[in-house]
Amino acid sequence: MMKKELSARVKISFHTLGCRLNQAESASLQNRFLKAGYEVVDFGRPADVVVINTCTVTEHGDTDTRRLVNRLHRSMKSAKIALIGCQSQVQGEHLLQLPGVQWVIGNAAKMDLPSILLQHGACEPFLMIPAISKESFTVPGAAIDRKHTRANLKIQDGCNFFCSFCEIPYARGRTRSRQLPDLLREANELAGAGYREIVLTGVNVGTYDDGGKSLPDVLAALSTFDGIRRIRISSIEMTTIPNEIFRPMQTGKVCRFLHVPLQSGSDKILRAMNRKYCARDFARFIHQAYAAVPDICLGADVMVGFPGETEHDFQLTTTLLQSLPLAYFHVFSYSDRPHARSRHLANKVSETDKQSRSRLLRQLSQKKRRQYFQRFTGSVQEALFEEEKHGLWTGLTDHYIRVRVTSSQNLHNQLRRVRLQDIDGMAMLGTLV
Ligand code: SF4
Repeated sequence: MMKKELSARVKISFHTLGCRLNQAESASLQNRFLKAGYEVVDFGRPADVVVINTCTVTEHGDTDTRRLVNRLHRSMKSAKIALIGCQSQVQGEHLLQLPGVQWVIGNAAKMDLPSILLQHGACEPFLMIPAISKESFTVPGAAIDRKHTRANLKIQDGCNFFCSFCEIPYARGRTRSRQLPDLLREANELAGAGYREIVLTGVNVGTYDDGGKSLPDVLAALSTFDGIRRIRISSIEMTTIPNEIFRPMQTGKVCRFLHVPLQSGSDKILRAMNRKYCARDFARFIHQAYAAVPDICLGADVMVGFPGETEHDFQLTTTLLQSLPLAYFHVFSYSDRPHARSRHLANKVSETDKQSRSRLLRQLSQKKRRQYFQRFTGSVQEALFEEEKHGLWTGLTDHYIRVRVTSSQNLHNQLRRVRLQDIDGMAMLGTLV
């Protein structure tokens, strides 16, 4: 019966919380529903089925899901809600109690959602959380998402590092890699669909290993695609970055950009976090990267308020960040996660201290970004343009400078040279040359 209800022209919408990997997976899934005859509508529009790809990295991710589900149920009583992804994996039973939720599907089964809806459409609320495989994998379809100019390409999943604050190894399983021929098949489809920039995504992309083929092999293979002009590596752990990465940044298609999580500048805290380096290692790497690729945009993640973080530890973090040639950093406040070992640690930091430390580091990040931008004032850079807003076209350089220009031309998905002139908050204003 539900086969009929959930067949052609059933309206389905998607909402993605969390990281780029979730975005890549949602985009692939969306295309599979389109191919199966569903009508994909914008999130918020009336729909028969609403899919929320959840996140559990922070407490906020959990709260966001609950809030969204409650709001959806109030505004769209008849919509059936499917919760998939990381929070579904670790809090499935709990999520199934939320109003309007019909399906809760863990990470190992979420890409089978089209067939799950057909088979389990009419029954009682349905929970499916199969064990996560440790084997290499393939991803059906392609992550074509017409709303974005840059395509996310999933190359890896899971993590074996078990940082003490992190729930990801429980939510996404152990590290495993996508089979190289399969990811090249998708890259070919993405290039054919007109994408010029591919963003490599995963949980711990530097650990990529498909039968001995590693991240530099992926970069080399993708570089041979004519249509693809830029390959960007999303967040990558410092201890996994191969030296061979710098040459294709200087002379090839790999973007001069690295986002490298630091988390803390205090060795005591890094040890308690079970991170695999000390502050000095991190500083050495950043200087090495900067020396190898002088214009490189280096970003970092920093966490404030890990249990036991004293004012002195925080000062060590601040001093380290001040001293390094970083262009920006993302600041996160620590929160206890249900499976993470750090929840058992004593000396929790007060919310007030977390907030004030977070504020100070955000201000420092803004200052760093401004300093980075200033270096490029007057220079000509190539930007990939995305969209027009308020009369200004916005694009991105390979080294992660958001650029705004005034133009009457349609610049969508075009790579154009721009002279950068002024700093405008988080972006630079320029003119086409
Ligand atoms: S490296 Fe650490 S923080 Fe990153 S996903 Fe793995 S366990 Fe989590």
